[in-house]
Formats: sequence, structure tokens, C-alpha cells
Amino acid sequence: MVDLRRARLLKDGIAGPGPVVYWMSRDQRARDNWALLFAQERALQRKVPLVVAFSLSPSFLGATIRQYGFMIEGLKEVEEELAAKNISFQVMAGNPEKTIPAMISKLKAGLLVTDFDPLRIKREWKEKVRERISVPFWEVDAHNVVPCWVASHKQEFSARTFRPKIDRLLPEFKVEFPVLKKHPFSWERRASIPWERLSKSLRVDKSVSEVKWIKPGEKAAKRALNSFLERKLSSYQEVRNRSELDGQSHLSPYLHFGQLSAQRVVLEAEKADVPQVDREAFLEELIVRRELSDNYCFYNLYYDHFEGFPDWAKKTLNQHRSDAREYLYELEELEMGRTHDELWNSAQLEMVIRGKMHGFMRMYWAKKILEWTPSPEDALEVAIYLNDRYELDGRDPNGYTGIAWSIGGVHDRAWGSRPIFGKIRYMSYRGCARKFNVPSYIEKVRAWL
Ligand SMILES: Cc1cc2nc3c(=O)[nH]c(=O)nc-3n(C[C@H](O)[C@H](O)[C@H](O)COP(=O)(O)OP(=O)(O)OC[C@H]3O[C@@H](n4cnc5c(N)ncnc54)[C@H](O)[C@@H]3O)c2cc1C
Repeated sequence: MVDLRRARLLKDGIAGPGPVVYWMSRDQRARDNWALLFAQERALQRKVPLVVAFSLSPSFLGATIRQYGFMIEGLKEVEEELAAKNISFQVMAGNPEKTIPAMISKLKAGLLVTDFDPLRIKREWKEKVRERISVPFWEVDAHNVVPCWVASHKQEFSARTFRPKIDRLLPEFKVEFPVLKKHPFSWERRASIPWERLSKSLRVDKSVSEVKWIKPGEKAAKRALNSFLERKLSSYQEVRNRSELDGQSHLSPYLHFGQLSAQRVVLEAEKADVPQVDREAFLEELIVRRELSDNYCFYNLYYDHFEGFPDWAKKTLNQHRSDAREYLYELEELEMGRTHDELWNSAQLEMVIRGKMHGFMRMYWAKKILEWTPSPEDALEVAIYLNDRYELDGRDPNGYTGIAWSIGGVHDRAWGSRPIFGKIRYMSYRGCARKFNVPSYIEKVRAWL
């Protein structure tokens, strides 16, 4: 049974006679998916078929073909996996606020289930769907180990305040997943999904190329997880911040598109025979930091605006608004990686070419944008634009929160004051050179050009 604390009733209503519909959105996988499991439980109780619906928006928060391509390949695997479980998968072109209510009405659906996402656009979609349907509508947190609304009832100040809450609740939620059953009630067979036609319906920028070094989909995600556990987890603590080395898991694109469940990663990491210090360092990022990002975006609707920063950070940034900037760059110069700082340029190019900047470099990268643009608002806008345009894991609560941490002191504390930054934590080229081999990182990126 799915823990009912994972689910919230967004709307009560009168169930129709038709199938249970799971509107898949953030968690694009057939395995280890609490929203899908919840929908199946309801369908079995009602003795009706289960239909999974995905609404393919023609554009989404500036996503390019790089991100759409990765997502569509993953969805093709979802189709296969669901077919093997006798669950119908239907992909519709268009915005969900229209496609989902139309489908609910056409199928005379019993009820609607969807997965949780704290981002504004998803909440707006759900609100519109809610207004337009009359069947019960449930939302299930299938992304976090501890459901976001259970972990905390308010915006947390920092990891220090959030961690004890997570630690207390983890044993209750960190359980093995039930297996998705072969569904005993069939829905009418439909022709296979017209992927090519759907792809053509997209109105997305095709100038940002897809990347080949990382394969999309649930199977590739599982292979990436196993490889990380076998080869890299045992040195994670020491190597993860060394940008010249390859110490990170590269799981973020899979986690972002929900092709892999973070809870599955936790369960497998706990079985791995690795030093405790490495496991703990990894789980701190994967659970505490990641779920803290959802907490920030869920409880702070200004998560991508200056207004969302803590008061001390707004005050100090306001005091330093008119400080002289030694370097000021236009968006295009930043985008092309043409600044005076070769380290920063390398990080930017790593993101443009590979679609994934090293985690340590992301902090340095965003902080320099604050230093080299006219205002904190400009810095935020530029950082979010570049992050969401090029990163495979962009448009994620982790991205908005990571940028807000770097530029606006979110989840951080006040440091010694200095120009432009005020009391926001500063990072320097020399600081990076103390942490890792800068020339070697620059060389690594150059080899990809
Ligand atoms: C300016 C800035 C922008 C960022 N943009 C994004 C983004 O768009 N999408 C994104 O997923 N992450 C973002 N991050 C967070 C982090 O850098 C990435 O999650 C991480 O580098 C992804 O690589 P990985 O999966 O190989 O990480 P690993 O080091 O292997 O970590 C495993 C997982 O832990 C989580 N994690 C790791 N570091 C963080 C962190 N600082 N905050 C929250 N969760 C974390 C992620 O889910 C990650 O996949 C950003 C951070 C900053 C400072």
C-alpha cells in the first residue's frame, strides 16, 4: 500500500465509471513510481483499467531540442514498460490544462492522479485542470523520499534546520517499492504512439544540439546508477569537488526527468560496500540538499526572483547596487564563453557542449555572473536563462535554488562584506585553484571543443 501521507486530494468529486487516469508529468518512469502505484491501487479497488496520460507541450520554459529529445526517448521506454503491464499509455500534443480535462471527459474517467512538482507552471496547470474536471483529483509526491509537505510545513531556513526533520522521517518513508502489477483490466488497444508526428508538433529551438555522451531512459539510468555505485561512490567525498576529475554520479538528468527515482538511488546506495563517509556525503546531496530545493520552491513562490531572497541578503545586495563593476558583460559574451576568465569560460563551454556543468563550477559560475552584470536581478535572469537553455537537468527546483544560493544567499549565511556581493559568500579563481587543478579542468573542457 502506498503511504497515504504521500497523496493530497486536490479536488473531491464524483467518480466516473471509466478508467483511472494517471497524468504523468514530473516522474516519467514505470518503475519505482509512487504516483503510478497509487493510481493502480485505486484502479484495482474499482476494478477498472488504468490509463497513463502524458501531455507533450509544444514549448516549455525555454527548453530546447536537447532536453525535449532526452525526454522523448525516455517516454518511448515508458510506453514499452507499461504495455508489458497491460497499462495503456497515451501521449497527446498540447498543453495539459486543455488535453487532460478533455481526456477525462472523453474516457468518463473514474478519477485523476498526478505527480507532485513545486514549480509555478505545473501548479497553474493543475489549478486549471482542477477547475475543469468533476472527478476526484489526487497529487502524489513521487519525487521526494519524504513527501515535501510532510518533511516540513514551511520554508526552511537552511540545510541545518531541514536535516533533523528529514532524518526523523526517513525511516518511515525509505521503504522498498512494491512491484507494479500486470493490470488485470484492459483498456481498448490503440495504435502505437506517433512519435514522429509528435516530435514535429514541437515549437522548440533546435540550435542547441542533443548530446551523445549520456543515454536517456530508465534502463540507461539504472546502468548509470550501477556504474556510479561500483566505480565512484567509494571516493565521492574526496573527488566530487575536484572539477578536473569525474567524481560525480551524472544522475541529475535522470532524476530531473523522473527516469530514475531518488528513493531507488538511496536504497541501492545503502547496500553498497563503501566507506560510510562517502555514502553520507552522497546522501546529504541526494536527499537533504535536493529535497531542500523542493521545499524552497514549494513554499516560496518567488523562488526565481530577487523578492524570494532572505531579508539579510536583499538588504546587503541593495546596499551594494551602485558599486563599480570592473567587468560588465553582455549576455552574448557570457553565452559564448568570452570573458577575461578562462576558468569561467571553460565552465560555460562545458555546459554549452556537454549539457552538464560540473557541480562545483556551477557555484563559481553563478557568482561571477553576479559580479559581471549590472544588478542582482540581471544576474538572476542571465543565470536562469543559460542554465535552463543548456543544462540537461535545467528547469529543476535544484537549479532555481542553486542559483538563488549563489546570488541571493538562500540557505546560506552572511559572510564578511565586500564590493558588489555585500555579505553574500564570494568565490574566487584562487579559491578554486586551492580546491582542484584548474589547468587540468580547462584542458579537459578544451578537449571537448
Ligand atoms: C548555480 C547552480 C545551478 C544548478 N543548477 C542545477 C540544475 O539546473 N539542475 C539540477 O539538478 N541541479 C542543479 N544544481 C545542483 C547541483 O550542482 C547538481 O544537482 C549536480 O551538479 C548534478 O550532478 P550529479 O547528478 O552528477 O551530482 P552528484 O554530485 O552525483 O549528486 C547526486 C544528486 O544529488 C543532488 N544534488 C547534488 N548537489 C546538489 C545541490 N547543490 N543542490 C541540490 N541537489 C543536489 C542532485 O539530485 C544530484 O543528481 C545547481 C547548483 C548550482 C550552484
